Amino acid sequence: MKAFDAVVVGGGLAGMMAALELRPLRVALVSYRSLGEWTSSAWAQGGIAAAVGDDDSPALHAADTVAAGAGLVEKRVAARLAFDGPHAIERIASLGVRFDRDAQEHYALGREGAHSRRRILRAGGDATGAELVRAIVAAVRTSPTIEPLENATALDVALDRDGRVCGLLLRHKSGEVVAVGASAVVLATGGLGGLYRFTTNPTSSRGSGIALAARAGARLADLEFVQFHPTALDVPSDPLPLVTEALRGEGAVLVDETGARLMEAIHPLGDLAPRDVVARRVFAIRSAGRRAYLDATQAVGADFRERFPTVFAACARFGIDPRVERIPVVAAAHYHMGGIAVDLAGRTSVEGLYACGEVAATGVHGANRLASNSLLESVVYPERIANDIRATVLPSASGFATPAYAAPVEAPEAQWDELRQAMYFGVGVERNEAGLEAALERLRMLGERTASAELRDAATVGGLVARAALRRRETRGSHVRTDFPAPADGERHRSFSTLADLPVAAQTA
Ligand SMILES: Cc1cc2nc3c(=O)[nH]c(=O)nc-3n(C[C@H](O)[C@H](O)[C@H](O)COP(=O)(O)OP(=O)(O)OC[C@H]3O[C@@H](n4cnc5c(N)ncnc54)[C@H](O)[C@@H]3O)c2cc1C
Repeated sequence: MKAFDAVVVGGGLAGMMAALELRPLRVALVSYRSLGEWTSSAWAQGGIAAAVGDDDSPALHAADTVAAGAGLVEKRVAARLAFDGPHAIERIASLGVRFDRDAQEHYALGREGAHSRRRILRAGGDATGAELVRAIVAAVRTSPTIEPLENATALDVALDRDGRVCGLLLRHKSGEVVAVGASAVVLATGGLGGLYRFTTNPTSSRGSGIALAARAGARLADLEFVQFHPTALDVPSDPLPLVTEALRGEGAVLVDETGARLMEAIHPLGDLAPRDVVARRVFAIRSAGRRAYLDATQAVGADFRERFPTVFAACARFGIDPRVERIPVVAAAHYHMGGIAVDLAGRTSVEGLYACGEVAATGVHGANRLASNSLLESVVYPERIANDIRATVLPSASGFATPAYAAPVEAPEAQWDELRQAMYFGVGVERNEAGLEAALERLRMLGERTASAELRDAATVGGLVARAALRRRETRGSHVRTDFPAPADGERHRSFSTLADLPVAAQTA
């Protein structure tokens, strides 16, 4: 068995940064595909938030983060994230990330909804994620102490007799299952949008890290909080391209098929209402069998291609010319606030197991993420994790037995469709008790009947999200219960789960 000082799972921003921060320790970096490929990180458009402007401060950034989170943000966690932001930006700039700058060579700062200052750093206009990933992949590839294990799937975290991490089991593309030894494992497996019928995430983002951590006995948190983006491009594509919120910032408006405005009578801020309010409206229109569109013909018009090149290219691929035509949109699963519960150092409740990036629940997002804080989190936590591993983790344990795994079985597309429909319509933008119970039952049946471990894991993670959503009998932030339409004071707390929250049969994932 090959042994490393640490194993990191995830070839997105969080995983790659963790591997880099752990240098010069010897690290295996496991990823479904090539590093950076098919990751949310590479697709990020808006940018990364940090209080680097002259009129800004970490205290203001933290206050905006707390306000966005609808009463559930852990204030000290937000304060620490905002404080560490400027240093994290310098860190990734030093690794070769080329941020957009103004004529004086200062960072060119954009502003986004719910940020009280201009604090969004961008690269290549709306291609920030691609630039981040380009530079960080290059840094990883030239680091001799990092061994990328690409086209490999992490199957299970291995624990020793005392319940401590002693390695990871993974399957290579060839089908071979191997064990790698390490006394620290970092899960950076991204979000779970791929569990939903409509998503902006890579379809392989199915919360696999949550399943791995849950099986290892780790505590999970805030699972019910899934953010839906109101304007994913409504075209025959899976996943769906994102139509950035910045278009509404520039004056584009949401309309129905007759051209009537959708947001005017719904919220005082109209089209600039909070993301969850707009997503609900778009979802309601679509659920009534109607269509929703974003009309940018007046507000942006002829300049569209130059000002929003990524969205323009996505529209063009489907024969839509947003300069003169309305853009069809649908609400799509976009970001998971919940995940594996971690402390300020990225430690989970299992000794030697860490999590960072979207799969981690740090407490910083509460019930709703402040835009552009997720990339920041993916850069800040890896350094803390590396420091903790260096300070506390013991040398690698000796070998452990590799359990027998059945050969992988592909689930039929129809079963994935069933699962994703159940999640989107039962555990989606709007929830209620009957819908959640029905979704739980479908997920349970799918999980029990399938021979595919991947589908079983997805059903387990979906079931845990549904359970958490069922337990929260209120509407707060991204969690909308039509049967409990207001926030409840008694529910003003984070939620925690473990695998034991599911019926016994469903736990055998
Ligand atoms: C379209 C889009 C736009 C966005 N725009 C912004 C933005 O402007 N600003 C912002 O802050 N956030 C944005 N976000 C959110 C942000 O991109 C993500 O939260 C962040 O990139 C997550 O990084 P990550 O490294 O945790 O996950 P990812 O980048 O998704 O990487 C996860 C990695 O884990 C691997 N993996 C997963 N499971 C396994 C397994 N079992 N075995 C092996 N490998 C595995 C995957 O292959 C992948 O390499 C956006 C998201 C999307 C989808």
